Amino acid sequence: TESCLSAIEGADALNAYCAKTPEIALEQAKAADARIAGGDAPAMCGIPLGIKDLFCTKGVASQAASRILEGFKPEYESTVTQNLWDAGAVMLGKLSMDEFAMGSSNETACYGPVVNPWKVDDRQLTPGGSSGGSAAAVAADLCLGATGTDTGGSIRQPAAFTGIVGIKPTYGRVSRWGVVAFASSLDQAGPMTKSVRDAAIMLGTMASNDAKDSTCVDFPVPDFEAALTGDIRGKKIGIPKEYRMDGMPAEIEKLWNDGAAMLRDAGAEIVDISLPHTKYALPAYYVIAPAEASSNLARYDGVRYGHRAHLGAGEGIVDMYEKTRAEGFGPEVQRRVMIGTYVLSAGFYDAYYNRARRVRALIKRDFDLAFEAGIDAILTPATPSSAFGLGEMKDADPVEMYLNDVFTVTVNLAGLPGISVPVGLDAKGLPMGLQLIGRPWGEGDLLNQALVLE
Ligand code: GLN
Repeated sequence: TESCLSAIEGADALNAYCAKTPEIALEQAKAADARIAGGDAPAMCGIPLGIKDLFCTKGVASQAASRILEGFKPEYESTVTQNLWDAGAVMLGKLSMDEFAMGSSNETACYGPVVNPWKVDDRQLTPGGSSGGSAAAVAADLCLGATGTDTGGSIRQPAAFTGIVGIKPTYGRVSRWGVVAFASSLDQAGPMTKSVRDAAIMLGTMASNDAKDSTCVDFPVPDFEAALTGDIRGKKIGIPKEYRMDGMPAEIEKLWNDGAAMLRDAGAEIVDISLPHTKYALPAYYVIAPAEASSNLARYDGVRYGHRAHLGAGEGIVDMYEKTRAEGFGPEVQRRVMIGTYVLSAGFYDAYYNRARRVRALIKRDFDLAFEAGIDAILTPATPSSAFGLGEMKDADPVEMYLNDVFTVTVNLAGLPGISVPVGLDAKGLPMGLQLIGRPWGEGDLLNQALVLE
């Protein structure tokens, strides 16, 4: 804990931590020492972690990187963080992210962008997003693990951009209680770590059945670490042809082939498969996610939380709502609220929202059919490129940024577990990741397969 705290002090330039909690950390570390001395030490005991700003932590600022939650200190602890503290883990502080987890570059945070510890010729790169602070902090050894959340790729894409491991569990494996909601049918929290083994241990601690989240499923949490045998003989790994996008960089294509060869050498069978509705995933996601976001974000009205605009003479409550939301939400969040409200409006609900839900069911069915045909896991690239430069997408069409999620959103739409593993470096020397998509509730197998790629 002490060495992480001093590393954090020397790493302000990365802007990964938006709140530092050294007093809490040292107190928790002392308690963990006592537990270890007393012989009661779960695997996470004494492990210093960073927590994404999306998680409510009691008495500690939890802002979802938004101005609208300025000064918000929750009265309660999220189930995930409570599970971690119960296991003796230590909180070093809160980690920056894209505002309300909307983005792929951590540039929409009200705290300013996070810098990727990886560089090319001194050019600053994005750590990815939305869990960019988590990814940068883990990659730069400013914690031993971090919590992330993934609605459309926000654990897996930043993990790939910073050369670390990130897993999004099956929807319902980890409680969403106390995690600021973005798109509730897609959001899932998961660990971001240096190794597959760390991810297995941390996921086992984060996961629980939780009566406070009605979508949390009452399945026992297996010992994920025990699943790490390294034996994947006889497993069938699918390579979906629809993920072979036009214009895919040769390096990503090569990485994908190399990954398949590693799995084959370890005894797995590599099978070409088809997931025919893949091309509709991104448009369906960018209807469903904003729709749910517009509904979830209605609660930020200047009355209940955080920021409230100052009113001029003669201004009333409607002015207060409008001014508060205009000042409190950044442009990307405002865009999502507008898209979401539009696709849910009476005249367009069927044309957009309901159609997107039907497409979502078809995407899920593609995966169901593959698994029914005996496929154990699916191998794809995690991202269409390695990390891009900070500011590089500033003037681009927002849809350009959304294209970053092309390989990851299908997994959230289908509720499946997906893991991003660092597999190699590109010609610029930057990390690249591969994604493995697993069967529902098959995180143990998935982590074991990922071990072979690591
Ligand atoms: N980049 C995607 C978006 O902006 C995914 C975000 C996420 O997974 N939280 O919606």
